[in-house]
Amino acid sequence: MNYLYDLWDDFISLLFPRVCYACGNHLLRNENLICTACYVTIPRTNYHLQPENPVAQLFWGRCLVEKAAAFSFYSKGSRIRNLIHKLKYAGIKEIGYELGRIYAVTLKSSGFTEGIDMIIPVPLHPSKKRIRGFNQSEYISSGISDVTELPVNEDSLVRIVLSATQTNRSRYDRWTNVEGIFRVNSAEAIRGKHILLVDDVITTGSTIESCVNELLKVEGVKVSVIAIGYSVV
Ligand SMILES: [Zn+2]
Repeated sequence: MNYLYDLWDDFISLLFPRVCYACGNHLLRNENLICTACYVTIPRTNYHLQPENPVAQLFWGRCLVEKAAAFSFYSKGSRIRNLIHKLKYAGIKEIGYELGRIYAVTLKSSGFTEGIDMIIPVPLHPSKKRIRGFNQSEYISSGISDVTELPVNEDSLVRIVLSATQTNRSRYDRWTNVEGIFRVNSAEAIRGKHILLVDDVITTGSTIESCVNELLKVEGVKVSVIAIGYSVV
């Protein structure tokens, strides 16, 4: 019976080849979303093992972050960029979940997530979320949560200002464009907690900085930060 099922599966794959969202090569029967070669060879930053890594340094002198790290290097043509694009612009949400899961295995086994109480995905403005239909950071967070068993809090931090797209802005503009765009709307739920703030890609760190400064207004809060991609443009 299994043999017949496999034959059928191969037949379907011939008609509708499944490809790796990172490299575009055909997937084998036991592979899903990302091929084994990409799993193994996507370059990892290993920043979770270096407290003074470049992502952590982004926040020095700007806001107090306990720990910061990113999974991989995000640059033009990189496989992690292909994955994030498929997640955000083609709406393949499972990629977010899978990337969160993969990174969380590494973070958990190294002790990075010890002492953390909850996960907060960087919120999208409600109107942007409505247009896209989902928040990619929530899917990444849900993968992290499944591995670490940390709860995800999607309600306590909200984005109140819809800023223009940051893609074409100069670095200086991006630094000055994110003051006061987030608000904590249920301080009680996060008081005294160590929060893991989750984003898809970190570039200048200004969006994260804005979130952190808002979260730190609540008594006893500590914040650590992770992203899937660290943009090295
Ligand atoms: Zn691949």
